[in-house]
Amino acid sequence: MQTTSAQTSPAATTARKPKRQAVLEVLAKARISPRLLRLTLGGEQYAQLHRNEQADAYVKLLIPDPASGLQPPYDLDALRAENPELLPVRRTYTVRSWDDAKQQLDIDVVLHGDGEGDGVAARWADQALPGDRIALMGAGGGYTPLADSAAHLLIGDHAALPAIAASLEAMDAAATGRVLIQLEHEEDRLALTRPEGVQLDWVIGSREDLRAAVAALDLSDVGGLQVFCHAERGLTKQLRRLLVTEAGIPRENLSISAYWALGRIEDQFQAEKREPIGAIDG
Ligand SMILES: Cc1cc2nc3c(=O)[nH]c(=O)nc-3n(C[C@H](O)[C@H](O)[C@H](O)COP(=O)(O)OP(=O)(O)OC[C@H]3O[C@@H](n4cnc5c(N)ncnc54)[C@H](O)[C@@H]3O)c2cc1C
Repeated sequence: MQTTSAQTSPAATTARKPKRQAVLEVLAKARISPRLLRLTLGGEQYAQLHRNEQADAYVKLLIPDPASGLQPPYDLDALRAENPELLPVRRTYTVRSWDDAKQQLDIDVVLHGDGEGDGVAARWADQALPGDRIALMGAGGGYTPLADSAAHLLIGDHAALPAIAASLEAMDAAATGRVLIQLEHEEDRLALTRPEGVQLDWVIGSREDLRAAVAALDLSDVGGLQVFCHAERGLTKQLRRLLVTEAGIPRENLSISAYWALGRIEDQFQAEKREPIGAIDG
């Protein structure tokens, strides 16, 4: 449920509630395609994560500059007040799978930048070794495929592939629908477990190719259609126009937001969500 400013108490607006960090260990690392790394993270503090059942559950990784010498967990309030330049960066990753019995979870990290890890998190993942410690916060999340949806439509790029894969696994066996996933490189396709009635199409090419593939969908009957659409910000805005403005999909049946923005590190991208440039709805 959303909290409106009218429902927020004055105390809640002045006191920042420290978010709980879970410090986990890198237990395993596997390259599941040329540009996708699966990291298994686990340990006793797994229980400190706010585990939720959403198919698109995500965590925030806290990654400090290695030169800072900082070790997790971090006193973020003290750093913000005294050494803001040392604050670890936050990067968002889908929980590809949870394993409560083993107290571990998997995240799949895209090595954007042609496999070299061109970004703080991609580089961290590329260089991570079993035994490394990482602080996580979360989990958030807001989408789960509903069993009573007439049909499903899932649209995403490489960054959304883990969420789409988890969502397909969460679907009812009788579910029907269509999935469009855009990748730049064909060899990054994965075998995805999905209900028989859900058609999966890989769009190998550019963001424009994904826009064209969505524009070519027959969306004349969207009654009962549940939609998940997450990709690069500029593309996501275009997709919203196609899905909401043109096809008339009710906003409440649609999970749509940008997962990243071209030319923006995540810190800027997240900050811009509060500005017109970052708004997907609008
Ligand atoms: C809810 C949510 C769930 C997400 N789940 C996943 C996930 O499971 N796996 C995953 O890999 N990503 C996921 N992302 C996207 C991920 O958080 C961003 O890609 C993030 O910017 C990566 O951080 P970085 O430090 O590697 O790059 P940054 O330092 O943030 O950015 C460096 C440069 O790389 C570019 N860049 C960032 N991401 C990409 C990309 N994917 N492709 C091409 N260029 C890029 C930026 O525009 C910037 O120019 C998710 C995002 C959200 C909001």
